Amino acid sequence: MTDRIANPRGASSPVIVNSMIQITGARTHNLQNLQIEIPVGKLTVITGVSGSGKSSLVFDTIFAEGRRRYLSSVSVRSRELLQKADRPDIDLIEGLPPVLMVSQGGMASRPEATVATISEINEYLRLLYTRVGQLYCPDCGKGVSSQSRSVIVEQALKSFERQKLLVLAPIVRQRTGLHHEIFTRIVKDGYVRARVDGELVDVANPPQLLKSQMHDIEIVVDRLMMKSGIQSRLEESVDTALQLGQGQCLLSHETDAGWVDRLYSSHLACVPCGTSFPILEPRSFSFRHPLGACPACQGSGLDPLSGLLPQLCGECQGTRLGRIPRSVRIQGISISDFCSLTPTAAVNCVAHWQEWFMSASTESPLDDGHRAAGQYLLPEIAARLQFLVEVGLDYLTLDRGSQTLSAGEQQRVRLAGCLGSDLTGVCYLLDEPTAGLHAMDTDRLLRVLCRLRDAGNTLIVVEHDLDVIRAADYVIDLGPGAGVLGGQLLAAGTAEALMRNSNSITGQFLRADEQRTAATDAAAQTHFAASSSVDASSPLVRLTGATLHHLKQATIEFPLGKIVCVTGVSGSGKSSLVMQTLVPAIRQGLGERNLSGGPFHELTGFETLSRLVRVDQSPLGHSSRSSPVTYSGLWGEIRQVFAKTRESRLRGFTSRQFTLQQPAARCPCCGGRGTLAVDEQRFADWQIRCPECDGQRFSVSTLSVRYRGRSVADVLEMSISEGAAFFQSFPRLFRTLSMFEELGLGYLKLGQPASTLSGGESQRIKLGTELAKPSGLEGATLFVLDEPTSGLHVADVGQLVSLLRRLTAGGDSVLVIEHHRELIASAAWRIDMGPGSGLLGGEVIFCGPQ
Ligand SMILES: [Zn+2]
Ligand SMILES: [Zn+2]
Ligand SMILES: [Zn+2]
Repeated sequence: MTDRIANPRGASSPVIVNSMIQITGARTHNLQNLQIEIPVGKLTVITGVSGSGKSSLVFDTIFAEGRRRYLSSVSVRSRELLQKADRPDIDLIEGLPPVLMVSQGGMASRPEATVATISEINEYLRLLYTRVGQLYCPDCGKGVSSQSRSVIVEQALKSFERQKLLVLAPIVRQRTGLHHEIFTRIVKDGYVRARVDGELVDVANPPQLLKSQMHDIEIVVDRLMMKSGIQSRLEESVDTALQLGQGQCLLSHETDAGWVDRLYSSHLACVPCGTSFPILEPRSFSFRHPLGACPACQGSGLDPLSGLLPQLCGECQGTRLGRIPRSVRIQGISISDFCSLTPTAAVNCVAHWQEWFMSASTESPLDDGHRAAGQYLLPEIAARLQFLVEVGLDYLTLDRGSQTLSAGEQQRVRLAGCLGSDLTGVCYLLDEPTAGLHAMDTDRLLRVLCRLRDAGNTLIVVEHDLDVIRAADYVIDLGPGAGVLGGQLLAAGTAEALMRNSNSITGQFLRADEQRTAATDAAAQTHFAASSSVDASSPLVRLTGATLHHLKQATIEFPLGKIVCVTGVSGSGKSSLVMQTLVPAIRQGLGERNLSGGPFHELTGFETLSRLVRVDQSPLGHSSRSSPVTYSGLWGEIRQVFAKTRESRLRGFTSRQFTLQQPAARCPCCGGRGTLAVDEQRFADWQIRCPECDGQRFSVSTLSVRYRGRSVADVLEMSISEGAAFFQSFPRLFRTLSMFEELGLGYLKLGQPASTLSGGESQRIKLGTELAKPSGLEGATLFVLDEPTSGLHVADVGQLVSLLRRLTAGGDSVLVIEHHRELIASAAWRIDMGPGSGLLGGEVIFCGPQ
């Protein structure tokens, strides 16, 4: 729940006064004093070319203000700091409901998070298992229960009517010894009779026990006849017996076959094994808590001794939970069993439980408390599961780790967490929820967003997908360019209104798209394919018999020197085949060692390649100092520029003076972070600008060195476009920065923290870095890209396509996993996977020239 913050002031006012959120004078980053209205209770899309200010508006203004209002209402220290803190640069926001951000994940998700925890299904499950679950003894498998005195008495009255009954307090259970002191104590406590190894004895005259044998000793607390009017006496005796027996009590009743014992416990205990268990709490089912985590692997699920190739923990079989939580079941299903299911299977399981709850008769172990818990919790779980199914994530099991999810998948799982909760009057902020979605899945996602809106919520979505834009109630088009050229409101209204508005860049694309769709697809394809058709003599790379995950002996085949596109619904096996099988196979073929990849039968046709460059969406680096310039290796050269200034030479500074790695270079107040935490305890991730260095991070002496009037901190604040102009006379800097610009990244800052980049932006930084490198190799390169258009406005996609075309014209090859229509249309060859997701996918259903 780390990234979910609401504004209670807004929440406390049940009537929404404004039907519009009114934003006046927004100037955050490049926003140019924007005046914008966003309708409450509607689905609004904010769009515009990359860098035009969409995120500045939605996340750095609307969300930042919502969060600020929330924090200032909960914490005194926060309020103090807020006086000086970065408020979003804005005159006024009126009518803002409580805001809730559904991020794409990345930094927000903990490494140990799973589908179940992110979607918050896990929280409800833990409550359910705490209230309703039945614990089975991990040693003998028998049901374990605890009974209060009144339950014990009630059962005894029912079962032992008109029988003779002994109320016994067990003192010694299966222990060797003479036990003299036990008898002495019993006498002292005022009891006269005991039962020793099943025989009633007089404690004043105890039997001689054999020291080496196991013995049972119980105090006889009471002997009575079960008849009417006996209840209060029985209650008193059972109470005493439980006290003497430390929570245990034996009731022995006389039958035709002799005396028969029944053991009761007021603790959670396996009576036959004599094991007591702690009372179960929700945290007993959490692998993040010592009470719940498997002690062998501390909840990681992996064998701590297994080294480089991780193996499942032998103790918990990868379920991450300890023995006790794994032994709690509802209708035979443990919480880890449940989490190994896919959403559809889990929905069926919940339906089965629901039926069981409803049908439960007086015979069943369920009481009203159980039923109430089920009535509240089961629908919450079912709603979230249903959502996962609806947005096409049915191929993910609930225990899938967040690190194996794409950014788009993470966001949709996160959205599921908001969904079941019946919140109304909330303003949801979403960042490109269609990222990574096939057109079919986009449709389903849209339906869910509309349902959320119809439940009385406001949705503000940053999005480029034309189908989503068309479906929105209201569209805000920002532009016209990136950075200082953006930040203006071009148009606002319905998609139709935008199409009629000549100011709207998005409107133009909507018009063009409509015309294109109207033309026959075949014609469009010939048009695009004509530029790079595949002739029969083109050599083909061919990989056969891939079986990783759900791949069904898949064969992939494609020509070199072309743009090749791999498509298919989410979960159909695209990355299993391309990223996890083909890429390592080719690299191995090119002589790289120690690669682990999916199994396959045979690989041919790759021999003319000299290298393979895989460019994915993973973050640029994990250090807080990673940025476009550090990743691309330009940072060293920029520091050299500063080290060669007159000022540096006078002061004896080398290039080391300009790296925050060096303590002397850092601002002493913030230690080079540029920020201070507002409230370390509760909101460790929320930072304000360091007042000492004003967020510039460097020490005063470092900042005093200037090149052409700019300090090193100024340079890091420059946009890539500005940087390209500023460093024009440095060939390597100029070449790389211009390449970034060509990839539509001119608006990013040189020193933009890698953690703030989207997956698509990171990928394009990597691509640009590779492209700017002189290859120095004979022969061609195969570039493998994973959804490079994510985060790109249609206007930018054209630029990317022309760059890919340039690559193939120069003899290189491009293999790209993509859903974007324009990019697919530009490919010379297409590989389509499917037909469904998970078990229903894993086949190449089309492979050939378009
Ligand atoms: Zn047991
Ligand atoms: Zn374990
Ligand atoms: Zn500082």
